[in-house]
Amino acid sequence: MTQTNAINNRQKLDLNPLQMPHRLLLGPGPSNAHPAILEAMNTPPVGHLDPTFLKLMDEIQSLLRYVWQTDNPMTIAVSGTGTAAMEATIANAVEPDDVVLVGVMGYFGNRLVDMAGRYGADVRTITKQWGQVFSLDELRAAIEEHAPQILALVHAETSTGACQPLDGVAELCQKYDTLLLIDTVTSLGGVPIYLDEWGVDLAYSCSQKGLGCPPGASPFTMSPRAVAKLQNRPTKVENWYLDMSLLGKYWGAERVYHHTAPINMYYALREALRLIAEEGVENCWQRHQQNAEYLWERLGEIGLEMHVEKQYRLPTLTTVCIPAGIDGKAIAQKLLNEYNIEVGGGLGELAGKVWRIGLMGYNSRPENVDRLIAALKEVLAK
Ligand SMILES: *Cc1c(COP(=O)(O)O)cnc(C)c1O
Repeated sequence: MTQTNAINNRQKLDLNPLQMPHRLLLGPGPSNAHPAILEAMNTPPVGHLDPTFLKLMDEIQSLLRYVWQTDNPMTIAVSGTGTAAMEATIANAVEPDDVVLVGVMGYFGNRLVDMAGRYGADVRTITKQWGQVFSLDELRAAIEEHAPQILALVHAETSTGACQPLDGVAELCQKYDTLLLIDTVTSLGGVPIYLDEWGVDLAYSCSQKGLGCPPGASPFTMSPRAVAKLQNRPTKVENWYLDMSLLGKYWGAERVYHHTAPINMYYALREALRLIAEEGVENCWQRHQQNAEYLWERLGEIGLEMHVEKQYRLPTLTTVCIPAGIDGKAIAQKLLNEYNIEVGGGLGELAGKVWRIGLMGYNSRPENVDRLIAALKEVLAK
């Protein structure tokens, strides 16, 4: 392209200031942010080594330990979305040739398989139909067969709406000194989690689902046992940006520069976590459960069925069966274009079979259920 063309192209860039629609985000994430969080993001940034910012980082760490119910010293926010925090658990825990056993019951289990393989793991899998969960007996049999260094499970499988029970899993891991790695992306803030009581060694989440914050800063934690494995590894972590032995020096007492923290994202995350602490995390879980039950009841009233058995249903994400003869995609498009409501479609095994409805964080409120049901009723009647 000649310089003249490049200069002429500039005219095409003469755009109006940003204007975006106001959507009600009831899909698998992101969810709408609480107004106080958006306001916090609007605060002018300070430097990433400013004493006031370092204090804010400490606050994020304490708040994360609270919402996760853990005492892990190594609990931080990763600069990036949930997938970055996911990769951080794998990069720091997996050494080449480690046996990593992944429970795959949906899309995100498969993502863990792909990632662990890239870090040189000897990956083994057990699978379930999408919408089901593993029983303790199935996990016991798999651990005895594979004796893995790491067992990775998705607590809240956003692609299916199923919640994997974790009580008793750590006891199974003890026999083989297996580290327990858990994806809590769609459970943190919305589903009861007791990381320490459950004996979880590595966990990660994101900001834009149950925490009701925009995407970009993602919770990460590792137990002292997982930190010991990291410290004893003979080879460097094969990802510089996510190496916790480096990041720990920025979040810890040394405060060594590693990367420039996305300052305003950390403001947002701090505010999102503070709001949960103000509400009380147990109350927050309860609110999610109550509003989900209200949603299930109202969906039932208009003749719709849920994909997951009630006892394993996530309060944060519901998969709703698309009735025979209905074009699910067209309904979702109408909800978006005519009602400003976003819902998700199915992935993988559930593509074309379900809608995915999220009630996460600030969005978990009865008035949002009412607004969705009213719109769905109208759209389905047409
Ligand atoms: C959303 C999601 C992720 C990925 O998080 P991003 O913020 O989209 O990168 C990982 N695991 C689960 C279960 C998720 O729902």
